[in-house]
Amino acid sequence: MDLSAIRHLVTEQTAAFLAAGEHRLLIDNEWVPALSGATFETINPATEEVAGRVAFAGPADVDRAVQSARRALDDGPWGRMTPAQRQNLMLRLADLVDANAQTLAELESIDNGKSVALAKAVDMTLVAEFFRYMAGWATKIEGSTIDASVPFIPGAKFMTYTRREPVGVVAAVVPWNFPLLVASWKLGPALAAGCTVVLKPAEQTPLTALYLGRLILEAGFPPGVVNIVTGDGPSTGAPLVAHPGINKVSFTGSTEVGKRIGHASIDNMTRFTLELGGKSPVIVLDDCDPATAAQGAANAIFFNQGQVCCAGSRLYIHKKQFDRVVGDVAKIADGMRLGPGLDPQAQINPLVSREQMQRVCDYIQIGLEQGATAVAGGGRGEGTGYYVKPTVLVDVSNDHRVAREEIFGPVLVAMPYDDLDEVARQANDTPYGLGASIWSNDLTRVHRLIPKLQAGSVWVNSHAMLDASVPFGGYKQSGIGRDMGRAALDAYLETKAVWIAL
Ligand code: NAP
Ligand code: MG
Repeated sequence: MDLSAIRHLVTEQTAAFLAAGEHRLLIDNEWVPALSGATFETINPATEEVAGRVAFAGPADVDRAVQSARRALDDGPWGRMTPAQRQNLMLRLADLVDANAQTLAELESIDNGKSVALAKAVDMTLVAEFFRYMAGWATKIEGSTIDASVPFIPGAKFMTYTRREPVGVVAAVVPWNFPLLVASWKLGPALAAGCTVVLKPAEQTPLTALYLGRLILEAGFPPGVVNIVTGDGPSTGAPLVAHPGINKVSFTGSTEVGKRIGHASIDNMTRFTLELGGKSPVIVLDDCDPATAAQGAANAIFFNQGQVCCAGSRLYIHKKQFDRVVGDVAKIADGMRLGPGLDPQAQINPLVSREQMQRVCDYIQIGLEQGATAVAGGGRGEGTGYYVKPTVLVDVSNDHRVAREEIFGPVLVAMPYDDLDEVARQANDTPYGLGASIWSNDLTRVHRLIPKLQAGSVWVNSHAMLDASVPFGGYKQSGIGRDMGRAALDAYLETKAVWIAL
Protein backbone atom coordinates (compact mmCIF):
# COMPACT_ATOMS: atom_id res chain seq x y z
CA MET A 1 0.00 0.00 0.00
CA ASP A 2 1.00 3.65 -0.38
CA LEU A 3 2.07 4.54 3.14
CA SER A 4 3.04 8.15 2.53
CA ALA A 5 -0.23 9.59 3.85
CA ILE A 6 -0.15 7.74 7.16
CA ARG A 7 3.49 6.86 7.82
CA HIS A 8 3.92 9.77 10.23
CA LEU A 9 0.83 8.65 12.18
CA VAL A 10 1.82 5.05 12.92
CA THR A 11 4.65 3.18 14.62
CA GLU A 12 7.57 1.81 12.64
CA GLN A 13 6.34 -1.73 13.30
CA THR A 14 2.95 -0.88 11.81
CA ALA A 15 4.52 0.70 8.75
CA ALA A 16 6.89 -2.26 8.29
CA PHE A 17 4.05 -4.75 8.61
CA LEU A 18 1.92 -2.88 6.08
CA ALA A 19 4.85 -2.56 3.69
CA ALA A 20 5.28 -6.35 3.54
CA GLY A 21 4.15 -7.59 0.14
CA GLU A 22 1.75 -10.43 0.74
CA HIS A 23 0.50 -11.52 4.15
CA ARG A 24 0.62 -15.29 4.19
CA LEU A 25 -1.24 -18.08 5.99
CA LEU A 26 0.13 -19.45 9.25
CA ILE A 27 0.20 -23.26 9.04
CA ASP A 28 2.44 -25.43 11.23
CA ASN A 29 4.32 -22.31 12.40
CA GLU A 30 5.29 -21.50 8.78
CA TRP A 31 4.09 -18.53 6.75
CA VAL A 32 2.87 -20.04 3.50
CA PRO A 33 1.05 -18.75 0.42
CA ALA A 34 -2.27 -20.31 -0.57
CA LEU A 35 -1.67 -23.48 -2.64
CA SER A 36 -3.53 -21.83 -5.53
CA GLY A 37 -1.41 -18.68 -5.18
CA ALA A 38 -4.63 -16.63 -4.82
CA THR A 39 -4.70 -13.43 -2.78
CA PHE A 40 -7.25 -10.76 -1.89
CA GLU A 41 -7.09 -7.12 -0.86
CA THR A 42 -8.09 -5.67 2.46
CA ILE A 43 -9.22 -2.05 2.36
CA ASN A 44 -8.63 0.86 4.72
CA PRO A 45 -12.19 2.20 5.27
CA ALA A 46 -10.98 5.74 5.98
CA THR A 47 -9.05 6.15 2.72
CA GLU A 48 -10.80 3.50 0.59
CA GLU A 49 -7.29 2.36 -0.39
CA VAL A 50 -5.75 -1.07 -0.27
CA ALA A 51 -4.24 -1.72 3.18
CA GLY A 52 -2.77 -5.10 2.39
CA ARG A 53 -2.73 -8.11 0.13
CA VAL A 54 -3.55 -11.33 1.90
CA ALA A 55 -3.36 -15.01 0.94
CA PHE A 56 -6.73 -16.45 0.00
CA ALA A 57 -7.06 -19.92 1.54
CA GLY A 58 -9.19 -22.50 -0.27
CA PRO A 59 -10.34 -25.94 0.87
CA ALA A 60 -6.89 -27.51 0.28
CA ASP A 61 -5.22 -24.90 2.52
CA VAL A 62 -7.91 -25.40 5.14
CA ASP A 63 -7.24 -29.14 5.02
CA ARG A 64 -3.52 -28.55 5.56
CA ALA A 65 -4.27 -26.29 8.52
CA VAL A 66 -6.64 -28.81 10.11
CA GLN A 67 -4.09 -31.61 9.66
CA SER A 68 -1.40 -29.45 11.22
CA ALA A 69 -3.67 -28.75 14.21
CA ARG A 70 -4.45 -32.48 14.52
CA ARG A 71 -0.76 -33.45 14.47
CA ALA A 72 0.00 -30.80 17.08
CA LEU A 73 -2.70 -32.22 19.32
CA ASP A 74 -1.95 -35.93 18.86
CA ASP A 75 1.80 -36.11 18.23
CA GLY A 76 3.38 -32.74 19.02
CA PRO A 77 4.83 -31.37 22.23
CA TRP A 78 1.60 -29.43 22.93
CA GLY A 79 -0.35 -32.54 23.92
CA ARG A 80 2.41 -33.50 26.37
CA MET A 81 2.73 -30.08 27.99
CA THR A 82 1.68 -29.61 31.58
CA PRO A 83 -1.14 -27.17 32.32
CA ALA A 84 1.43 -24.83 33.89
CA GLN A 85 3.47 -24.83 30.68
CA ARG A 86 0.36 -23.93 28.69
CA GLN A 87 -0.43 -21.22 31.20
CA ASN A 88 3.07 -19.76 30.91
CA LEU A 89 2.95 -19.66 27.11
CA MET A 90 -0.37 -17.84 27.29
CA LEU A 91 0.99 -15.35 29.83
CA ARG A 92 3.94 -14.69 27.51
CA LEU A 93 1.51 -14.08 24.66
CA ALA A 94 -0.48 -11.65 26.84
CA ASP A 95 2.72 -9.72 27.61
CA LEU A 96 3.55 -9.58 23.89
CA VAL A 97 0.07 -8.23 23.15
CA ASP A 98 0.67 -5.50 25.73
CA ALA A 99 4.10 -4.71 24.29
CA ASN A 100 2.62 -4.48 20.77
CA ALA A 101 -0.69 -2.87 21.75
CA GLN A 102 -0.07 0.37 19.85
CA THR A 103 0.79 -1.46 16.63
CA LEU A 104 -2.13 -3.86 17.00
CA ALA A 105 -4.48 -0.92 17.62
CA GLU A 106 -3.17 0.90 14.55
CA LEU A 107 -3.58 -2.16 12.37
CA GLU A 108 -7.09 -2.69 13.71
CA SER A 109 -7.92 0.92 12.89
CA ILE A 110 -6.46 0.75 9.40
CA ASP A 111 -8.31 -2.49 8.63
CA ASN A 112 -11.62 -1.89 10.39
CA GLY A 113 -11.87 1.91 10.54
CA LYS A 114 -12.20 2.16 14.33
CA SER A 115 -10.42 4.62 16.61
CA VAL A 116 -6.81 3.76 17.45
CA ALA A 117 -7.21 5.21 20.92
CA LEU A 118 -10.27 3.07 21.67
CA ALA A 119 -8.79 0.00 19.98
CA LYS A 120 -5.79 0.31 22.28
CA ALA A 121 -7.71 1.17 25.46
CA VAL A 122 -10.56 -1.29 24.94
CA ASP A 123 -9.83 -4.02 22.40
CA MET A 124 -6.13 -4.65 23.07
CA THR A 125 -6.39 -4.27 26.85
CA LEU A 126 -9.22 -6.79 26.87
CA VAL A 127 -7.28 -9.17 24.60
CA ALA A 128 -4.23 -9.23 26.90
CA GLU A 129 -6.33 -9.48 30.06
CA PHE A 130 -8.45 -12.21 28.54
CA PHE A 131 -5.40 -14.32 27.72
CA ARG A 132 -4.23 -13.83 31.31
CA TYR A 133 -7.59 -14.77 32.76
CA MET A 134 -7.80 -17.92 30.62
CA ALA A 135 -4.13 -18.78 31.31
CA GLY A 136 -5.15 -19.01 34.96
CA TRP A 137 -7.79 -21.62 34.16
CA ALA A 138 -5.25 -23.96 32.51
CA THR A 139 -4.08 -25.14 35.95
CA LYS A 140 -7.58 -25.31 37.43
CA ILE A 141 -9.30 -27.80 35.17
CA GLU A 142 -10.70 -30.45 37.48
CA GLY A 143 -12.88 -33.54 37.32
CA SER A 144 -14.68 -35.03 40.29
CA THR A 145 -14.76 -38.31 42.20
CA ILE A 146 -18.18 -39.91 42.48
CA ASP A 147 -19.51 -42.59 44.84
CA ALA A 148 -21.52 -44.58 42.31
CA SER A 149 -24.27 -46.87 43.72
CA VAL A 150 -24.78 -49.35 40.83
CA PRO A 151 -28.02 -50.84 42.29
CA PHE A 152 -28.16 -53.73 39.80
CA ILE A 153 -24.94 -55.36 41.18
CA PRO A 154 -25.39 -55.65 44.95
CA GLY A 155 -22.11 -55.30 46.81
CA ALA A 156 -20.21 -53.95 43.79
CA LYS A 157 -17.59 -51.33 44.49
CA PHE A 158 -16.14 -48.89 42.00
CA MET A 159 -13.70 -46.06 41.99
CA THR A 160 -15.46 -43.58 39.67
CA TYR A 161 -14.15 -40.24 38.56
CA THR A 162 -14.34 -37.77 35.69
CA ARG A 163 -11.53 -36.32 33.62
CA ARG A 164 -11.88 -33.12 31.66
CA GLU A 165 -10.08 -33.44 28.32
CA PRO A 166 -9.56 -30.98 25.48
CA VAL A 167 -12.39 -31.23 22.97
CA GLY A 168 -9.81 -31.43 20.17
CA VAL A 169 -9.21 -29.30 17.09
CA VAL A 170 -11.18 -26.06 17.20
CA ALA A 171 -12.34 -24.00 14.22
CA ALA A 172 -12.64 -20.35 15.28
CA VAL A 173 -14.59 -18.20 12.82
CA VAL A 174 -14.82 -14.54 13.75
CA PRO A 175 -16.37 -11.28 12.48
CA TRP A 176 -14.91 -7.91 11.58
CA ASN A 177 -16.27 -5.60 14.27
CA PHE A 178 -13.82 -6.51 17.07
CA PRO A 179 -11.47 -8.64 15.01
CA LEU A 180 -8.70 -9.44 17.48
CA LEU A 181 -10.86 -9.26 20.60
CA VAL A 182 -13.34 -11.86 19.36
CA ALA A 183 -10.45 -14.04 18.11
CA SER A 184 -9.03 -13.96 21.64
CA TRP A 185 -12.39 -15.11 23.05
CA LYS A 186 -11.92 -18.32 21.05
CA LEU A 187 -8.14 -18.75 21.39
CA GLY A 188 -8.09 -18.15 25.16
CA PRO A 189 -10.30 -21.00 26.35
CA ALA A 190 -9.15 -23.31 23.54
CA LEU A 191 -5.47 -22.98 24.53
CA ALA A 192 -6.20 -23.13 28.26
CA ALA A 193 -8.11 -26.38 27.70
CA GLY A 194 -5.23 -27.83 25.64
CA CYS A 195 -7.00 -27.71 22.25
CA THR A 196 -5.40 -26.69 18.97
CA VAL A 197 -6.97 -24.09 16.71
CA VAL A 198 -7.57 -23.08 13.11
CA LEU A 199 -8.59 -19.42 13.15
CA LYS A 200 -10.41 -17.76 10.27
CA PRO A 201 -10.62 -13.97 10.55
CA ALA A 202 -13.22 -12.02 8.56
CA GLU A 203 -12.12 -11.13 5.04
CA GLN A 204 -12.54 -7.40 5.81
CA THR A 205 -10.15 -7.50 8.78
CA PRO A 206 -7.43 -10.14 8.58
CA LEU A 207 -4.44 -8.02 9.63
CA THR A 208 -4.42 -8.16 13.44
CA ALA A 209 -4.95 -11.92 13.48
CA LEU A 210 -1.89 -12.25 11.24
CA TYR A 211 0.12 -9.93 13.48
CA LEU A 212 -0.97 -12.01 16.46
CA GLY A 213 0.39 -15.01 14.55
CA ARG A 214 3.83 -13.43 14.73
CA LEU A 215 3.42 -12.97 18.48
CA ILE A 216 2.29 -16.59 18.85
CA LEU A 217 5.55 -17.70 17.18
CA GLU A 218 7.56 -15.28 19.33
CA ALA A 219 5.90 -16.60 22.49
CA GLY A 220 7.11 -20.09 21.57
CA PHE A 221 3.90 -22.04 20.89
CA PRO A 222 4.80 -25.34 19.19
CA PRO A 223 4.00 -25.86 15.48
CA GLY A 224 0.35 -26.36 14.61
CA VAL A 225 -1.16 -25.21 17.89
CA VAL A 226 -2.57 -22.08 16.24
CA ASN A 227 -3.06 -21.94 12.47
CA ILE A 228 -4.50 -18.90 10.71
CA VAL A 229 -6.31 -19.15 7.38
CA THR A 230 -7.44 -15.94 5.72
CA GLY A 231 -10.10 -15.90 3.03
CA ASP A 232 -13.85 -15.53 2.73
CA GLY A 233 -16.91 -17.32 4.06
CA PRO A 234 -17.75 -19.67 1.17
CA SER A 235 -14.18 -20.71 0.19
CA THR A 236 -12.45 -20.73 3.57
CA GLY A 237 -14.99 -20.64 6.42
CA ALA A 238 -17.44 -23.18 5.00
CA PRO A 239 -14.86 -25.95 4.29
CA LEU A 240 -13.31 -25.30 7.69
CA VAL A 241 -16.48 -25.76 9.74
CA ALA A 242 -17.55 -28.77 7.65
CA HIS A 243 -14.12 -30.46 7.90
CA PRO A 244 -14.44 -33.87 9.57
CA GLY A 245 -11.18 -33.22 11.43
CA ILE A 246 -12.75 -30.37 13.41
CA ASN A 247 -14.13 -31.26 16.86
CA LYS A 248 -15.57 -27.89 17.82
CA VAL A 249 -16.65 -24.77 15.99
CA SER A 250 -16.68 -21.50 17.83
CA PHE A 251 -18.40 -18.88 15.72
CA THR A 252 -19.20 -15.23 16.22
CA GLY A 253 -21.11 -13.47 13.48
CA SER A 254 -24.55 -13.02 12.03
CA THR A 255 -27.51 -15.16 12.97
CA GLU A 256 -28.01 -16.16 9.34
CA VAL A 257 -24.47 -17.57 8.92
CA GLY A 258 -24.57 -18.98 12.45
CA LYS A 259 -27.58 -21.13 11.59
CA ARG A 260 -25.80 -22.47 8.53
CA ILE A 261 -22.77 -23.30 10.67
CA GLY A 262 -24.93 -25.05 13.25
CA HIS A 263 -26.43 -27.27 10.55
CA ALA A 264 -23.01 -28.07 9.07
CA SER A 265 -21.65 -28.88 12.55
CA ILE A 266 -24.43 -31.32 13.40
CA ASP A 267 -23.62 -33.37 10.29
CA ASN A 268 -20.27 -34.31 11.85
CA MET A 269 -21.58 -34.02 15.44
CA THR A 270 -19.01 -31.26 15.86
CA ARG A 271 -19.61 -29.29 19.06
CA PHE A 272 -20.49 -25.67 18.47
CA THR A 273 -20.83 -22.31 20.17
CA LEU A 274 -22.65 -19.54 18.33
CA GLU A 275 -22.45 -15.87 19.32
CA LEU A 276 -24.83 -14.10 16.98
CA GLY A 277 -26.62 -10.86 16.29
CA GLY A 278 -28.69 -8.61 18.48
CA LYS A 279 -31.18 -5.76 18.70
CA SER A 280 -30.64 -4.82 22.28
CA PRO A 281 -33.06 -2.53 24.14
CA VAL A 282 -32.05 0.44 26.29
CA ILE A 283 -34.86 1.06 28.78
CA VAL A 284 -35.09 4.42 30.53
CA LEU A 285 -37.36 4.50 33.58
CA ASP A 286 -39.07 7.75 34.51
CA ASP A 287 -36.95 8.40 37.63
CA CYS A 288 -33.74 8.57 35.58
CA ASP A 289 -31.94 11.87 35.11
CA PRO A 290 -32.65 12.65 31.41
CA ALA A 291 -29.13 13.90 30.65
CA THR A 292 -27.54 10.76 32.13
CA ALA A 293 -29.94 8.57 30.18
CA ALA A 294 -29.25 10.45 26.93
CA GLN A 295 -25.48 10.16 27.28
CA GLY A 296 -25.79 6.48 28.21
CA ALA A 297 -28.07 5.81 25.24
CA ALA A 298 -25.73 7.65 22.85
CA ASN A 299 -22.72 5.65 24.06
CA ALA A 300 -24.71 2.41 23.81
CA ILE A 301 -25.39 2.88 20.11
CA PHE A 302 -22.55 5.02 18.74
CA PHE A 303 -19.55 3.18 20.25
CA ASN A 304 -17.61 1.46 17.42
CA GLN A 305 -20.04 3.14 14.97
CA GLY A 306 -22.83 0.87 16.19
CA GLN A 307 -20.99 -2.18 14.85
CA VAL A 308 -21.42 -3.92 18.17
CA CYS A 309 -23.40 -7.13 18.55
CA CYS A 310 -24.93 -5.87 21.80
CA ALA A 311 -25.32 -2.24 20.64
CA GLY A 312 -28.26 -0.50 22.31
CA SER A 313 -30.13 -0.02 19.06
CA ARG A 314 -33.67 0.31 20.47
CA LEU A 315 -34.26 3.08 22.98
CA TYR A 316 -37.44 2.89 25.10
CA ILE A 317 -38.17 6.03 27.06
CA HIS A 318 -41.11 6.69 29.40
CA LYS A 319 -43.51 8.95 27.52
CA LYS A 320 -43.18 11.71 30.17
CA GLN A 321 -39.49 12.11 29.36
CA PHE A 322 -39.49 11.06 25.72
CA ASP A 323 -39.05 14.46 24.05
CA ARG A 324 -36.38 15.60 26.48
CA VAL A 325 -34.23 12.46 26.29
CA VAL A 326 -34.58 12.08 22.51
CA GLY A 327 -33.72 15.75 22.07
CA ASP A 328 -30.56 15.30 24.12
CA VAL A 329 -29.50 12.14 22.25
CA ALA A 330 -30.05 13.95 18.93
CA LYS A 331 -27.93 16.87 20.14
CA ILE A 332 -25.12 14.49 21.12
CA ALA A 333 -25.36 12.74 17.74
CA ASP A 334 -25.29 16.01 15.80
CA GLY A 335 -22.24 17.15 17.75
CA MET A 336 -20.12 14.07 17.06
CA ARG A 337 -17.14 14.67 14.87
CA LEU A 338 -16.65 12.32 11.94
CA GLY A 339 -13.08 11.36 11.10
CA PRO A 340 -10.58 8.56 10.57
CA GLY A 341 -9.59 6.26 13.40
CA LEU A 342 -6.05 7.65 13.30
CA ASP A 343 -7.43 11.11 14.28
CA PRO A 344 -7.67 11.25 18.09
CA GLN A 345 -10.33 14.00 17.87
CA ALA A 346 -12.72 11.95 15.74
CA GLN A 347 -15.74 10.50 17.55
CA ILE A 348 -17.40 8.64 14.68
CA ASN A 349 -15.11 6.65 12.41
CA PRO A 350 -15.86 5.00 9.09
CA LEU A 351 -17.80 1.74 8.94
CA VAL A 352 -15.85 -1.33 7.96
CA SER A 353 -16.70 -1.42 4.25
CA ARG A 354 -18.54 0.25 1.41
CA GLU A 355 -21.02 -2.61 1.51
CA GLN A 356 -21.73 -2.09 5.22
CA MET A 357 -22.10 1.68 4.73
CA GLN A 358 -24.58 1.04 1.93
CA ARG A 359 -26.48 -1.49 4.00
CA VAL A 360 -26.84 0.93 6.89
CA CYS A 361 -27.90 3.79 4.58
CA ASP A 362 -30.46 1.47 2.96
CA TYR A 363 -31.90 0.73 6.40
CA ILE A 364 -32.20 4.44 7.14
CA GLN A 365 -34.12 4.83 3.86
CA ILE A 366 -36.37 1.89 4.69
CA GLY A 367 -37.08 3.50 8.06
CA LEU A 368 -37.96 6.84 6.49
CA GLU A 369 -40.17 5.14 3.88
CA GLN A 370 -42.04 3.29 6.63
CA GLY A 371 -42.81 6.61 8.32
CA ALA A 372 -39.85 7.29 10.62
CA THR A 373 -38.47 10.80 11.15
CA ALA A 374 -34.71 11.38 11.47
CA VAL A 375 -34.09 13.85 14.33
CA ALA A 376 -30.32 13.48 13.83
CA GLY A 377 -28.14 12.22 10.98
CA GLY A 378 -30.01 10.39 8.25
CA GLY A 379 -27.39 9.27 5.74
CA ARG A 380 -23.75 8.94 4.79
CA GLY A 381 -21.04 11.42 5.67
CA GLU A 382 -19.43 13.57 2.99
CA GLY A 383 -16.12 12.85 1.30
CA THR A 384 -13.82 9.85 1.15
CA GLY A 385 -14.34 7.04 3.63
CA TYR A 386 -17.28 4.87 4.60
CA TYR A 387 -18.91 7.28 7.06
CA VAL A 388 -22.51 7.20 8.22
CA LYS A 389 -23.78 10.09 10.33
CA PRO A 390 -24.98 9.10 13.78
CA THR A 391 -28.71 8.81 13.23
CA VAL A 392 -31.69 8.92 15.57
CA LEU A 393 -35.09 7.82 14.26
CA VAL A 394 -38.45 8.55 15.94
CA ASP A 395 -42.05 7.86 14.84
CA VAL A 396 -41.09 4.21 14.81
CA SER A 397 -42.98 1.27 16.25
CA ASN A 398 -41.82 -2.23 17.11
CA ASP A 399 -43.11 -3.68 13.84
CA HIS A 400 -41.01 -1.37 11.65
CA ARG A 401 -38.07 -3.11 10.01
CA VAL A 402 -35.61 -0.65 11.56
CA ALA A 403 -36.89 -1.72 14.98
CA ARG A 404 -36.75 -5.45 14.22
CA GLU A 405 -33.65 -6.08 12.11
CA GLU A 406 -30.02 -5.72 13.13
CA ILE A 407 -28.65 -2.67 11.30
CA PHE A 408 -25.11 -2.87 12.69
CA GLY A 409 -24.40 0.82 12.27
CA PRO A 410 -24.85 4.13 14.13
CA VAL A 411 -28.64 4.10 13.89
CA LEU A 412 -30.89 4.35 16.92
CA VAL A 413 -34.67 3.97 17.00
CA ALA A 414 -36.42 5.65 19.93
CA MET A 415 -39.91 4.70 21.13
CA PRO A 416 -42.10 5.86 24.04
CA TYR A 417 -43.80 3.53 26.56
CA ASP A 418 -46.35 3.80 29.33
CA ASP A 419 -45.62 1.25 32.03
CA LEU A 420 -43.14 -1.41 33.12
CA ASP A 421 -45.07 -4.43 31.81
CA GLU A 422 -45.52 -2.76 28.46
CA VAL A 423 -41.84 -1.92 28.09
CA ALA A 424 -40.81 -5.46 29.08
CA ARG A 425 -43.14 -6.81 26.39
CA GLN A 426 -41.76 -4.41 23.80
CA ALA A 427 -38.14 -5.10 24.77
CA ASN A 428 -38.74 -8.84 24.36
CA ASP A 429 -40.68 -8.48 21.12
CA THR A 430 -37.67 -9.39 18.97
CA PRO A 431 -36.11 -12.60 17.74
CA TYR A 432 -32.86 -11.57 19.45
CA GLY A 433 -31.80 -11.72 23.10
CA LEU A 434 -28.20 -10.64 23.51
CA GLY A 435 -28.23 -7.67 25.89
CA ALA A 436 -30.46 -5.07 27.53
CA SER A 437 -29.85 -2.08 29.74
CA ILE A 438 -32.04 -0.41 32.33
CA TRP A 439 -31.49 3.18 33.38
CA SER A 440 -32.94 3.92 36.81
CA ASN A 441 -32.10 4.20 40.50
CA ASP A 442 -35.42 2.73 41.58
CA LEU A 443 -34.15 -0.60 42.92
CA THR A 444 -37.56 -2.19 43.25
CA ARG A 445 -38.57 -1.59 39.67
CA VAL A 446 -35.11 -2.47 38.36
CA HIS A 447 -35.22 -5.82 40.16
CA ARG A 448 -38.75 -6.46 38.90
CA LEU A 449 -37.64 -5.82 35.34
CA ILE A 450 -34.40 -7.85 35.29
CA PRO A 451 -36.03 -11.32 35.41
CA LYS A 452 -38.55 -10.31 32.75
CA LEU A 453 -35.94 -9.45 30.12
CA GLN A 454 -34.98 -12.22 27.71
CA ALA A 455 -31.32 -11.34 27.29
CA GLY A 456 -27.96 -12.95 28.02
CA SER A 457 -26.67 -9.78 29.72
CA VAL A 458 -28.60 -7.08 31.57
CA TRP A 459 -26.73 -3.92 32.49
CA VAL A 460 -28.08 -1.36 34.94
CA ASN A 461 -27.00 2.26 34.48
CA SER A 462 -24.38 1.09 32.00
CA HIS A 463 -24.38 -0.75 28.69
CA ALA A 464 -22.19 -3.35 26.97
CA MET A 465 -19.85 -3.87 29.93
CA LEU A 466 -17.61 -6.88 29.33
CA ASP A 467 -15.03 -8.67 31.41
CA ALA A 468 -13.00 -11.83 30.99
CA SER A 469 -14.65 -13.33 34.08
CA VAL A 470 -18.28 -12.71 33.14
CA PRO A 471 -20.15 -15.02 30.75
CA PHE A 472 -21.38 -13.37 27.57
CA GLY A 473 -23.82 -14.76 25.04
CA GLY A 474 -27.34 -14.78 23.74
CA TYR A 475 -30.85 -15.93 24.51
CA LYS A 476 -33.12 -16.82 21.60
CA GLN A 477 -31.66 -16.17 18.13
CA SER A 478 -28.63 -14.38 19.58
CA GLY A 479 -26.83 -17.66 19.97
CA ILE A 480 -26.03 -20.87 21.79
CA GLY A 481 -23.37 -21.05 24.50
CA ARG A 482 -21.26 -18.45 26.24
CA ASP A 483 -17.95 -16.72 25.60
CA MET A 484 -15.81 -15.62 28.53
CA GLY A 485 -15.88 -16.72 32.14
CA ARG A 486 -15.76 -20.31 33.34
CA ALA A 487 -18.68 -21.14 31.05
CA ALA A 488 -16.51 -20.54 27.99
CA LEU A 489 -13.83 -22.93 29.20
CA ASP A 490 -16.34 -25.75 29.69
CA ALA A 491 -17.29 -25.54 26.03
CA TYR A 492 -13.73 -26.54 25.03
CA LEU A 493 -13.64 -29.61 27.28
CA GLU A 494 -15.08 -33.09 27.01
CA THR A 495 -16.00 -35.07 30.12
CA LYS A 496 -14.73 -38.64 30.39
CA ALA A 497 -16.25 -40.87 33.07
CA VAL A 498 -13.83 -43.52 34.39
CA TRP A 499 -15.00 -46.66 36.23
CA ILE A 500 -12.50 -48.86 38.05
CA ALA A 501 -13.95 -52.02 39.57
CA LEU A 502 -12.51 -52.59 43.03
P1 NAP B 1 -20.89 -12.85 9.21
O1 NAP B 1 -21.14 -12.36 7.86
O2 NAP B 1 -21.83 -13.83 9.80
O3 NAP B 1 -19.42 -13.44 9.21
C1 NAP B 1 -18.77 -13.90 10.35
C2 NAP B 1 -17.65 -14.83 9.95
O4 NAP B 1 -18.18 -16.00 9.33
C3 NAP B 1 -16.69 -14.22 8.94
O5 NAP B 1 -15.39 -14.67 9.21
C4 NAP B 1 -17.21 -14.80 7.64
O6 NAP B 1 -16.26 -14.82 6.61
C5 NAP B 1 -17.57 -16.20 8.06
N1 NAP B 1 -18.51 -16.87 7.19
C6 NAP B 1 -19.42 -16.35 6.33
N2 NAP B 1 -20.12 -17.33 5.71
C7 NAP B 1 -19.65 -18.51 6.20
C8 NAP B 1 -19.97 -19.88 5.97
N3 NAP B 1 -20.93 -20.25 5.13
N4 NAP B 1 -19.29 -20.81 6.66
C9 NAP B 1 -18.33 -20.48 7.54
N5 NAP B 1 -17.97 -19.20 7.79
C10 NAP B 1 -18.63 -18.22 7.14
O7 NAP B 1 -20.83 -11.67 10.26
P2 NAP B 1 -20.05 -10.28 10.08
O8 NAP B 1 -20.80 -9.48 9.08
O9 NAP B 1 -18.61 -10.52 9.89
O10 NAP B 1 -20.22 -9.67 11.54
C11 NAP B 1 -21.34 -9.00 11.96
C12 NAP B 1 -22.26 -9.93 12.74
O11 NAP B 1 -21.59 -10.51 13.84
C13 NAP B 1 -23.42 -9.20 13.35
O12 NAP B 1 -24.60 -9.92 13.15
C14 NAP B 1 -23.08 -9.14 14.83
O13 NAP B 1 -24.18 -9.01 15.67
C15 NAP B 1 -22.37 -10.42 15.02
N6 NAP B 1 -21.51 -10.39 16.20
C16 NAP B 1 -21.91 -11.10 17.32
C17 NAP B 1 -21.14 -11.06 18.49
C18 NAP B 1 -21.56 -11.84 19.71
O14 NAP B 1 -20.73 -12.06 20.57
N7 NAP B 1 -22.80 -12.26 19.82
C19 NAP B 1 -19.97 -10.32 18.52
C20 NAP B 1 -19.59 -9.61 17.37
C21 NAP B 1 -20.38 -9.66 16.22
P3 NAP B 1 -16.09 -13.58 5.60
O15 NAP B 1 -16.51 -12.35 6.29
O16 NAP B 1 -14.64 -13.61 5.32
O17 NAP B 1 -16.94 -13.89 4.41
MG1 MG C 1 -10.14 -3.85 5.85
